[in-house]
Amino acid sequence: MTKLATNSIYCGYEKQIVLKDISLEIPDKKITSMIGPNGSGKTTLLKTLARILLPENGSVHINGEDINTLNTKSVAKKIASLSQKNNVINGLSVAEIVAYGRFPYQKSFAGLQKEDHELIQWALEVTGLLELKQRTLNTLSGGQQQRVWIAMALAQDTDILILDEPISSLDPAHQLEILYLLEDINRQGKTILMTIHDLNHAAQFSDYIIGLKQGQLILKGEPQEVFTAERLLELFDIQPEVVLSKKNQKPFILSYDLVRS
Ligand code: ADP
Repeated sequence: MTKLATNSIYCGYEKQIVLKDISLEIPDKKITSMIGPNGSGKTTLLKTLARILLPENGSVHINGEDINTLNTKSVAKKIASLSQKNNVINGLSVAEIVAYGRFPYQKSFAGLQKEDHELIQWALEVTGLLELKQRTLNTLSGGQQQRVWIAMALAQDTDILILDEPISSLDPAHQLEILYLLEDINRQGKTILMTIHDLNHAAQFSDYIIGLKQGQLILKGEPQEVFTAERLLELFDIQPEVVLSKKNQKPFILSYDLVRS
């Protein structure tokens, strides 16, 4: 079990505090989605949780330990984090990119060990990339590229995966393919935390929802509690029509409109 939590964090950039007084616990072994308007601080919060940004005040904890007292490699053995824009590493094969996930475990000059190869193989298998492993990234479709990044994060063998908008540039079928893949990965015992714009995807695929607005945590809870007309109005200033899906009884937004006075 790996517990990730924040205790009253304030965090931002040189001239601006973005996150204000955020205390939360990311549920272990669940899928949590973070929602909120553009600029509300979602990416900033993910980066703070992954120790890419340091809070000005307050703390982030893994299993009760302040993340800022841990070294980079020990954090990287607990949390794998994928940002919105991953650098395209030209000329490297899929297998070589996935092997980067083993970096936190490398002892200098020792090269990849048996366990590393096994984990790389497993990550390629889970993400359906075995047949593409010799291809270079620039020859793959957007959905395949996204699977390569997820495979690299899986090879890192962490309990927690943090993904910033993992499906934002994909077509509907490939979006679902990635969401089902994340669901499978979650069933294998991993905690997933992601940002997502499509509210219906968030409702369908998440166990827990976090809502940020102007850097403040304004809602948290299971999709059934959070996806109500009142709460979505509060978070996004929209008037939605929410029903329960016949398929799985989860909330489903049929339509929404701007609030008109
Ligand atoms: P979201 O992910 O919800 O769209 P962000 O966390 O990206 O929100 O941004 C929150 C606020 O922080 C915005 O006002 C944005 O302009 C600002 N911000 C984001 N990244 C930086 C940065 N590198 N330097 C300065 N300000 C930033």
